[in-house]
Amino acid sequence: MIKIDSHLRVADPAAYVKTLVERHWRHFNPVDDGGKYTAKSAIEACRRLRQATGQTAPITSRGKHKGATYLQYYADGDSAKLRRQQDFLDYLLHNDGANLVQLYTARPDTLAAMATAIGALTKSGDFFKTDKGKLKQTEFGKRLSRDVFDYASFRSSQYCADLYRQLQFNQATCPYCNHSVLEIVQLHKGKDEAPMLKAYFQLDHYFAQVRHPYLALSFFNLIPSCGNCNAVDKLDAEFALHTHVHPFHEAFDDFYHFELSMRGMWGMVHEVQIVPRQSTTHRDGGVDAFRLRDKYAGYSALAIDLHRRFVAYEHCLKTEDAQTLRLFQDAVLHGMSLDKRDILRTNRGKMKRDLIRQFDVANALKID
Ligand SMILES: [Zn+2]
Repeated sequence: MIKIDSHLRVADPAAYVKTLVERHWRHFNPVDDGGKYTAKSAIEACRRLRQATGQTAPITSRGKHKGATYLQYYADGDSAKLRRQQDFLDYLLHNDGANLVQLYTARPDTLAAMATAIGALTKSGDFFKTDKGKLKQTEFGKRLSRDVFDYASFRSSQYCADLYRQLQFNQATCPYCNHSVLEIVQLHKGKDEAPMLKAYFQLDHYFAQVRHPYLALSFFNLIPSCGNCNAVDKLDAEFALHTHVHPFHEAFDDFYHFELSMRGMWGMVHEVQIVPRQSTTHRDGGVDAFRLRDKYAGYSALAIDLHRRFVAYEHCLKTEDAQTLRLFQDAVLHGMSLDKRDILRTNRGKMKRDLIRQFDVANALKID
């Protein structure tokens, strides 16, 4: 609901995120003492895969490949398809892997441009196919996900949990719905074992992983989110920056506000509504994708209760007296911060903040 960068409680969010992004590349691409990428690095894995595409001998005599060549198994015997895979890998590796570095580290607008560039070199069927209405990775897509962009290992790593702790998601809510709580917990296993970090949330690939396996580990393509938003509502839907707010790129808060207003033919039903801000014509497809209107309409009773408390204690705002103001804080806000940076830290924080702004007609609380 706000940009993830704006949620960070650090002195210089831009420099802070830049440091995390550099660490992200180094994590997947360690170097040896001489400064050379190690065999475990993603860039070396990418080079090995490029080499494998040129091999004409059978991959192996055993297992599911059963003597098939790379061309047969990974490119369906189609030499044009093989050429496209090679063009794609060459694109990643050229100039000492400059584009591969970008895939791990570039901001969302650059990632979108790179997906377009890769789309011009390949066909979507090179990475995924539709099977009984579901998107499934091709053998080449699976190989990329396994060898070069190994999301499964990352997701189960301590590095992953630590990264989102550094991004202050240890006690926050989902950036898409601002409702479900995301947690990172330190698990104590045994007396002699070091505690483990566990992230109790999902990571949404803003640009869907099945469509774009090369964006599986991109720092700015991974959005900590709740299971309802990621796995129930969004699934493999295609999001784009001009149609859907990307929480590292824009803020839903800049385009919409919540409002308690009358609804229905007789105008007697109070309901929480999501209203576009007058200052912008930009719209977020996430409102429909994450069913935010329906979800928030369900919180109308909570909003009416907030209004009742506000009216009962509004007189407290007419004073400068600290004790009286504290009474308002306790009775109406229940300790909730009205600082915009805390929206993701508060369950339905944006809705509550917007409603207080709506009720506080004179803006005595100075909410921007
Ligand atoms: Zn959510």
